[in-house]
Amino acid sequence: DAAFVRDHLAAVKANCANRNVSADAADRAVAADDERKRLVKLRDETSAKANANSKLFGAAKTPEEKDAVRQQGAALKEEVARLEVQLKGVEEELKTHLLQLPNMTHPAAPVGTDSAANVVVAEFGKKPAFDFAPKDHVALCESLDLADFEAGTRVAGQKFYFLKNEAALLEIALVQYAVQACVKAGFTPVITPDLARVEVLEGIGFQPRDNAETRQVYTVADTDLCLIATAEITLGGMHKDRIFDEAELPKRYVGLSHCFRTEAGAAGRDTRGLYRVHQFTKVEMFAFCTPENSDAIHEEIRTLEEQIFTGLGLHFHVIDTCTGDLGGPAYRKYDLEAWMPGRGAGGDFGEITSTSNCTDFQARRLGIRYKGKGFKGTRFVHTLNGTAVACTRALVAILESYQQADGSVVIPDALRPWVGKDVIAARK
Ligand code: AMP
Repeated sequence: DAAFVRDHLAAVKANCANRNVSADAADRAVAADDERKRLVKLRDETSAKANANSKLFGAAKTPEEKDAVRQQGAALKEEVARLEVQLKGVEEELKTHLLQLPNMTHPAAPVGTDSAANVVVAEFGKKPAFDFAPKDHVALCESLDLADFEAGTRVAGQKFYFLKNEAALLEIALVQYAVQACVKAGFTPVITPDLARVEVLEGIGFQPRDNAETRQVYTVADTDLCLIATAEITLGGMHKDRIFDEAELPKRYVGLSHCFRTEAGAAGRDTRGLYRVHQFTKVEMFAFCTPENSDAIHEEIRTLEEQIFTGLGLHFHVIDTCTGDLGGPAYRKYDLEAWMPGRGAGGDFGEITSTSNCTDFQARRLGIRYKGKGFKGTRFVHTLNGTAVACTRALVAILESYQQADGSVVIPDALRPWVGKDVIAARK
């Protein structure tokens, strides 16, 4: 909102600094908005002159006088058309600058440009204790025949995989378990497309037009489509340009999709196994609500994520993400990080879910509004998203946490109905 940026310029620039983003776009937006206002005024004045001139025509007596009025009219019309073109260019420029600005930040979010500023706000479960040297999930997948990374590479390239045997069943079980938990909590289940238009991705806050080296998403040649990186894209896009009645809100969805990520620029740490891959299956929550409700719904989604992972018997903590790690759209973000005994030397926490309150950042770009009794016109809704389960990350945490001395892996109670057994037996 150009008016917001102008009226809160110092706060907008401080927010950019906190979030590790250049504040140049804020100054440029104000300058472009000044120019826009100047052109609007000039266009309106010239238009008024053209109207006044056309009224002189009737009063003109001689052909010479009529000709002079006609000529003046043509010149003014031309000037209005020229100003319209100029105005369009400046409006585009203003939009470009505004699109570069991140969302504002929740006053309680920890301030810091480095991940060290993230704050652990809650902890759940107990770190599993082993009286043997625990394996990492790659070794477990190999010894239990749960995944084929060579075949993944052969068929689609590095960071692709085939899930096999109980791992394939576990993925289906995780989807069922997470979707059921969300449906019980009042979320409407949906299966979304795995592709979406560039304009929808941009509305959510992705930059699919970046060049191939930095682009985070795969684009489909000769179309305006991308493979989605998360169902947040399709669930948000589902109500693009919609005007809700206040009584319809909040709307809560839980969507199932595949997610595709180029992982351009990702650090070299997670090159093996299932942790950071190009394709994974994810159950994603998404909500549309009024501005008054978004903080509460954010806490609700976080609580649901905590319940889902407590139900799986995992050890995890919750991070209140610092300003420097919020990205563009989030006003506040909580990440769940689970203990992965095989990660690094001696185990480490790894991110398993993320939930963001994006306030009106996405709604403004996607044109999603609502009307209500207490105000005139329409307002932008607030949007929120949260991971119910990202299957491969959950698999890493489960396989590594539930391994036994004999090489078997116990299936978490909550998933047994769908896997059909209690344990993945060690193979001879
Ligand atoms: P994000 O949409 O980036 O917040 O990611 C949501 C969740 O998806 C993360 O918390 C991870 O559990 C999972 N995830 C993200 N990127 C990958 C990846 N490249 N491979 C596997 N899982 C991922």
